[in-house]
Amino acid sequence: MKIIAVNAGSSSLKFQLLEMPEEKEIASGIVERIGNKNAEFTFKFNGEKFVKKGEILDHSKAVELVIEGLLKHGVINKLEEIEGVGHRVVQGGELFKDSAVIDDEVVAKIASLNDLAPLHNPAHIIGINAFRKALPNVIQVAVFDTTFHQTMPEESYLYSVPFEWYEKYGVRKYGAHGTSHQYVSEIAAKRLGKEDTKIVVCHIGNGASITAVKNGKSVDTSMGLTPLEGIPMGTRSGNVDPTIFGLIAKKEGKSIDQILNDLNKHSGYLGVSGVSHDSRDIVDAAHQGNHRAQLAITIQAKRIADYIGSYFVLMGGLDAIVFTAGIGENAKEVREAIVDRLSAVGAKLDPVANNSRGEKEISAADSKVKIWVIPTNEEVMIARDVMRLRK
Ligand code: ADP
Repeated sequence: MKIIAVNAGSSSLKFQLLEMPEEKEIASGIVERIGNKNAEFTFKFNGEKFVKKGEILDHSKAVELVIEGLLKHGVINKLEEIEGVGHRVVQGGELFKDSAVIDDEVVAKIASLNDLAPLHNPAHIIGINAFRKALPNVIQVAVFDTTFHQTMPEESYLYSVPFEWYEKYGVRKYGAHGTSHQYVSEIAAKRLGKEDTKIVVCHIGNGASITAVKNGKSVDTSMGLTPLEGIPMGTRSGNVDPTIFGLIAKKEGKSIDQILNDLNKHSGYLGVSGVSHDSRDIVDAAHQGNHRAQLAITIQAKRIADYIGSYFVLMGGLDAIVFTAGIGENAKEVREAIVDRLSAVGAKLDPVANNSRGEKEISAADSKVKIWVIPTNEEVMIARDVMRLRK
């Protein structure tokens, strides 16, 4: 059975078609710069890549192109072969404790959370509506980045701020990358082969978050109300003292939105190094002796190690650390910089294993904590939920 997993952004639409329950990717692609004259549609199938450029006015047109591509390249022979659509939705607030079959009410609920994810939720709704129009008789499921973190206890998700902010506006920690944290922590728990498990997942990509997963449940995570909180990322600062707002507003005459933009887009690797937001460029520059590039890696590694240490205390121990996402899976230098700081929790790297590629154990034989690289697969989690809810 074919299920399509969709991730709609404000000007892009990513998709992956999967054969289920085998969980096999059949085709994938991305439409970028939607609404633009020089939009681009990249379609991958059978090891080949097709690129089409031109004007793509809106998400409906993008969905049409995706379906046209699937038919044209013979991935499907008729539309009815697609038996379910799963949509990634960044923010489910406290309204969604599980994935949800999409109807008008669910769409309205997602829209009611727009204030909490102004860049993401409105775009998801456009994508959802476009697919509902194109495939009106097919089950559509919303899968939220936040659901997995709904198990956090109050003391993890509440900020120590005026309580009315939470009551009136939902100001609290929601976390992100939930499907990824769940996917890799389930694999890690199986490998540990026991009931009580204490796992820290380090999802480190352009966006990055660290989660404490105890007995299969998220008990704390580094991202907060928005994906700005937590550790430094490609372009995001992670935690800062909010007093910075007042200082920079005064010194540079910037508005709150402009400063938020600096913290979201001009900080992290990019802000500290002045070189790039991409870990590959940063690692290269650091190798060549660029001090600020080295600093960008060290600051992030320190903050991640700090989180792991605090989650060790929170869970009363640690069985395994899992690295995943673009940097976690590929950047051995970043993993090394982090684990080098973790001798106090008994974590020790096997440098040879850490240097090799792919899914693997990278802990030393005498490490008290298992360390694994486990590639994430958010699309599979989305497709699994479509399968579960269509029954
Ligand atoms: P996101 O999904 O948050 O946009 P990704 O998980 O794709 O981000 O991660 C992007 C990051 O992963 C970039 O910093 C990139 O340098 C890094 N990355 C991806 N592939 C590799 C690789 N083969 N070697 C080293 N780093 C990589």
